[in-house]
Amino acid sequence: PLVLGIETSCDETGVGIVRGHTLLANTIASSVEQHARFGGVVPEVASRAHLEAMTPAVERALAEAGVGFGDIDAIAVTAGPGLAGALLVGVAAAKAYSLGLGVPLYGVNHLAAHVAVDQLEHGPLPKPCVALLVSGGHSSLLLVPDVAHDVISLGSTVDDAAGEAFDKVARVLGLPFPGGPHIDREAREGSGAAVAFPRGKYDDGTLDFSFSGLKTAVARWVEARRAAGESIHVPDVAASFQEAVVDVLTRKAIDACRRYDVRDLLIGGGVAANSRLRALARERCQAAGIRLRVPRPGLCTDNGAMVAALGADLVSGGAAPSALTIPADSSLPITTVHV
Ligand code: ATP
Ligand code: MG
Ligand code: FE
Repeated sequence: PLVLGIETSCDETGVGIVRGHTLLANTIASSVEQHARFGGVVPEVASRAHLEAMTPAVERALAEAGVGFGDIDAIAVTAGPGLAGALLVGVAAAKAYSLGLGVPLYGVNHLAAHVAVDQLEHGPLPKPCVALLVSGGHSSLLLVPDVAHDVISLGSTVDDAAGEAFDKVARVLGLPFPGGPHIDREAREGSGAAVAFPRGKYDDGTLDFSFSGLKTAVARWVEARRAAGESIHVPDVAASFQEAVVDVLTRKAIDACRRYDVRDLLIGGGVAANSRLRALARERCQAAGIRLRVPRPGLCTDNGAMVAALGADLVSGGAAPSALTIPADSSLPITTVHV
C-alpha cells in the first residue's frame, strides 16, 4: 500500500510516503530555530508553525515520491503522545486528506512509529524483538512481539527522559538547544573516563532508568569548578556525562534481551542518533550474541516516514481504520499502537 504519514507531535512537521517498507519521500520542516532562544519548545509557536508548514510539506513529499494524491491508499498520522496543540494540527490535516481523498485514516502512536521506522532501512522486524526507545520525552524498554499489534512495556524512566538529560546538561555547559547533537560532537574531543558521574539504577535489578540524579551531579560538578574559578574542559564533561547515560542504557537493554530470551535488539528515538550509544551498543551486543538494529540518524529523530511505516504495517495487517472523530491524545500510552 502507498501510505502518506503525517507527524506533528513536537516541533517537526514531517510528511513521509512509503510503499510497504520502501521509503519514497521524507520531508521535514522544523520550527526548532524559533524555539532556540527560549531554551525549549514553545507549544503555541510549534502549533502555528505546523499550520503554516503542513500543506507545502505534503506537496513537497508528493513531488519527491513522484506520486499524486490519487495514488495514496491510506493516511497515517501521529495521534499521540506529544504536545496537544501540535498533535491537533496533524490530526486535523490527516482527517481532511482522508475525507477528501476517500481513503482510510490510521491514527498511530508516535513511540511505536519510532520502532517501526527501522523496517524502512533493515526490513521486517524480527518477532519478537526488544526495543530501547530513547527520545526527548521518553526512555523505555519494550518487548515487541509485533509492532503493529502488540507492544509491552518492560521498564521506563522514573524521572527524566534520556534526551531531556542531554538537553539539560547541554544548557549547563552553555551549548545550544537542542543539546543532544552538540554533546555528541563535543564528546568526540573528550574522554568518557574523565569524570566518574553516577549511573542511576545501575544495579537495582529493574529495567527502569533514572537520569535526574546524573543531570544534577553534572550541574553541581560544573558549578563547583566555576565557583572555584577553575576552567572546565567541556569535551571531557560532555563525554563523561554521555558515557554514564549510554552505559546504563546498553547494560539494561542487553539485560532485557537476556531476561526475555530475545536475540534481537532495536534502538530507536532521537537519542538513538547518538554516535557513542550506537558504538557501545554494537560492541556489547556483539559480545552478548545479540543482533542489533539501529536506523540511520535521520530516521531516529522525528519524521513523517516513521508514521507512514507503521501505517503501512497496519494496512497490510488488516487493522481497522480509525474513526474520523479520533482525538489527539497528548498522553497516549506506549502500549496503544493505534487508535
Ligand atoms: P518523544 O519521541 O519522546 O515524543 P521527541 O519526539 O521530542 O520526544 P525525538 O525527536 O524523538 O524527541 O528526539 C529528540 C531528542 O533526541 C532531543 O532530546 C535531542 O537532544 C536528542 N538527540 C538528537 N540527536 C542526538 C544525539 N546525537 N545525541 C544525543 N541526543 C540526541
Ligand atoms: Mg524535535
Ligand atoms: Fe519522537
